[in-house]
Amino acid sequence: MTASTDSFRALGLSDALLAALADVGYERPSAIQAACIPPLLEGHDLLGEAQTGTGKTAAFALPVLQRLDLAQRDPQVLVLTPTRELAIQVAEAFQRYARQLPGFHVLPVYGGQGMVAQLRQLQRGTHVVVGTPGRVMDHINRKTLRLEGLRTLVLDEADEMLRMGFVEDVDWILEHTPAGRQVVLFSATMAEPIRRIARRHMREPQEIRIQARTTTVAATVQKYCQVAAPHKLDALTRVLETEASLDAAIIFVRTKTATVEIADKLEARGYAVAALSGDLTQTLRERVIDQLKQGKLDLIVATDVAARGLDVPRISHVINFDVPYDTEAYVHRIGRTGRAGRSGTAILFVTPRERRLLGMIERATRQKIEPMALPSRAAVADRRVALFREQVEQAITSEDLGFFREVVRSLADREGADLEEIAAALAFLAQRERPLQLPPAQGPDVADLARSQRTPPSRAPSRPVGPSPAPGGELQRYRIEVGRHHQVSPKDIVGAIANETGLSGRSIGRIDLFDDYSTVELPPQLPAEILEVLRRTRVRQRPLGLRAMSADEAAMAVKPMGRPKRASAGKPVMPGGRKPGAKKKAR
Ligand code: ADP
Ligand code: MG
Repeated sequence: MTASTDSFRALGLSDALLAALADVGYERPSAIQAACIPPLLEGHDLLGEAQTGTGKTAAFALPVLQRLDLAQRDPQVLVLTPTRELAIQVAEAFQRYARQLPGFHVLPVYGGQGMVAQLRQLQRGTHVVVGTPGRVMDHINRKTLRLEGLRTLVLDEADEMLRMGFVEDVDWILEHTPAGRQVVLFSATMAEPIRRIARRHMREPQEIRIQARTTTVAATVQKYCQVAAPHKLDALTRVLETEASLDAAIIFVRTKTATVEIADKLEARGYAVAALSGDLTQTLRERVIDQLKQGKLDLIVATDVAARGLDVPRISHVINFDVPYDTEAYVHRIGRTGRAGRSGTAILFVTPRERRLLGMIERATRQKIEPMALPSRAAVADRRVALFREQVEQAITSEDLGFFREVVRSLADREGADLEEIAAALAFLAQRERPLQLPPAQGPDVADLARSQRTPPSRAPSRPVGPSPAPGGELQRYRIEVGRHHQVSPKDIVGAIANETGLSGRSIGRIDLFDDYSTVELPPQLPAEILEVLRRTRVRQRPLGLRAMSADEAAMAVKPMGRPKRASAGKPVMPGGRKPGAKKKAR
């Protein structure tokens, strides 16, 4: 055994596992691994709080593997993960660490994958099952997954599972596991719902907490660029062109539609890019990730959910095209770079009104996010010229140019032009497909636009991402389940909607408050994701439960049944819906 795995040996891991670790090239345990492996080997329940990228998979997989009885082919271990992508990655990790365990079998099960194939494999027997809660419940109900022999249950990224609405499923699954099994729960936060699960289902769990300042964040340089929404795409291409050491990048946007839209635009500019969203079939998603790994793709445009757990070491850059929904999402996003000890760069685009979020992220990650000037038009041209020069130099040194020299000489003879002039003409022709200068038609320099607080409405084309009000389009009326009795004010509503969706306050129309509900006008044809987000968004601790109103309902609601307070979102409104200047009453 190599000395390099000695520190793993000290944790009590077997030779077979140490050999596999030497193979995958892990030299020493990460903090969470060092803290979790010994108690897990002893069979304790464990509650682990750690951020993305801290090495949680090996922290539970290694001790679980060591405790397996390979002769027993009924599932002994069940790992629940929030997404299919993660289920596959965890299963792959098990496979890697179990390389020296003959006959070991792990099975990922998730929705969208053929049930028949899963059934066949379950029948053949497997030691470990890794799956998403929904599909696992299906199998338990059909009795195709028998849990009598279960010894360990792992909840990976429990906070995310709860956030995705799997609380009851997770509870249900836990209730269907034999008493006396070991329960291991990992989460980036220990919010109350997580503690509740722990109290209900765990026995004197060991609590392990790894500080939020993770290796991932430390290995990642964080920068932000202020840019007005309509100029983000231009800003993105400039960043992609000028960032030194860019290998592969993942670009985060808010909606599925945006993934496709931006990917198309980048493709048209010559990038090897694909969109990654929950819409893709599992096979396609896997193909995209493989292509990224192999260098057939360099850019991926993804939503948070689609990119969750993505682990591709060559991702050198994470670009937050749209700001994340919260600081936690931000930490997960930037955890996609700086993987496996490499360094990474995260660049965040913020519009002027999103500046507030910066401070929140800085507090959460305890790191400064440095401002970054958008590459100017001149910087882009410099970079393109440098690349062009390289190509020319390479042609001079490594191509046989005899025939072409003849062509140039005859040009010089015939036109009587000097060689510099001819070379300039050739350079001009050579760059026609891919110009060395940005066309002046793109308007004023983005770097200047970034500073302007608001672009005049007439010049603000549709934002590349997210909805924007169709100019003059009819607003749609929605009902939300908060009203005056909940001490809500129009400002709270505008604030929450703007924060969660990136809609500007101006595109939110009229808000009417009733006693226990309210109505709000929003741009038409909002993407389903945004509506889903708004259904769950909370104002004054209450979910909005947003839903569209029929024309009849809307007409009813406008007739003041319960003395609605009116306010236009565009105008300043005091808390409680009072006009500015009205005295604020203490709550
Ligand atoms: P988390 O689940 O906490 O986000 P992962 O388990 O996905 O983290 O691990 C993140 C990355 O670090 C993976 O690429 C993994 O292979 C690598 N890794 C994990 N443990 C070690 C280690 N001890 N040494 C080197 N790399 C490691
Ligand atoms: Mg993980």
